[in-house]
Amino acid sequence: MDCTDLAMQRPALRILEANEDTPLVFAVQHFCLHDGPGTRSIVFFKGCPLRCSWCQNPESWRREAELAHKEHLCASCESCVKACPTGAMTEPGKWDPARCDLCMKCVDACPTTSLVSFGVRHSTEALFAQLRPEYDLYRRSGGGVTFSGGEATLFADYITHLARRLQSDGIHVAIETCGLFKLESVDALLSVTDLLLFDIKLFSDSEHRRFCGAGVTKIKANLKTLVERARRKEGPALWPRLPVIPGVTDTLANLEGWAGFLSELGVNALTLVPYHALGSSKRLWLPRAPAAPALEPLSDRALERCHEVFAARSIRCFAPGDEPFAHIQSASLNNDQSCAST
Ligand code: SF4
Ligand code: SF4
Repeated sequence: MDCTDLAMQRPALRILEANEDTPLVFAVQHFCLHDGPGTRSIVFFKGCPLRCSWCQNPESWRREAELAHKEHLCASCESCVKACPTGAMTEPGKWDPARCDLCMKCVDACPTTSLVSFGVRHSTEALFAQLRPEYDLYRRSGGGVTFSGGEATLFADYITHLARRLQSDGIHVAIETCGLFKLESVDALLSVTDLLLFDIKLFSDSEHRRFCGAGVTKIKANLKTLVERARRKEGPALWPRLPVIPGVTDTLANLEGWAGFLSELGVNALTLVPYHALGSSKRLWLPRAPAAPALEPLSDRALERCHEVFAARSIRCFAPGDEPFAHIQSASLNNDQSCAST
């Protein structure tokens, strides 16, 4: 048997080189405690089918690289203007997107990090090299790697390669998803995923379109199918999460809609993710991002009411990082419980 035969028989070992089809990563964060069990690394990909009005990571929306300007750091030195080969940068931190080819020479020239770029293309091998040194920590803490975004399932082939390698090394793999995907396009990825963190937002289709830019019907159908698969141990464990956005997702109608839906599916736990305005300043850095909406701070009473609505359906709510993930395990580990139940 020659090498060609081996390669054909073992496509999982083929290394995806970085090329135009390789997704862009805008951050790799280590030592994270809120996105799955234990201490984790989170890989954030660029590209998302939704445009949630409250989104904390607007740099995750577009698939392509983006140039951003943090005006408060700008020294008006004009190094960026001088470095720009196309003449797109006409004055400090001001550029014409139509003439910009995203060469990022202005970013390299900026002495104050006022100009930054979002989106780096890594081969799977290069990304794996960033995760490998954390193995000891994952193992000691019961943690692993979470692929997030943007929407990680947009890059199913790429992540499947990485996840397969991590799993074969005994490392726990989680995917955070908005739930908007074609199931058949993520089957291979789900087969190498231990935990699906499934974000739910607005129960009404028209409200979901209004605040997130797309309907919720497909998301509900995927959630139902994946909960059923998890219960039959034919897919990853599943845990829903609801961002609590004042005046948007914390209305009684929305909470009762989701509580009834989850209860009918037999799900009896979820995470409530309280809104905070930390990402708002990023909207100012990105010229194409709309301004952040003016939202009231989330009150303790509003959060309490969320708990009460779900409790009325016997669904327990947890804060991020407090979930009893040890109680649910992936189908591959053959535990009794495989979807959000405690
Ligand atoms: S990214 Fe390149 S083309 Fe665009 S403004 Fe900066 S230097 Fe000019
Ligand atoms: S190089 Fe940086 S600090 Fe200098 S003008 Fe441009 S953005 Fe401002």
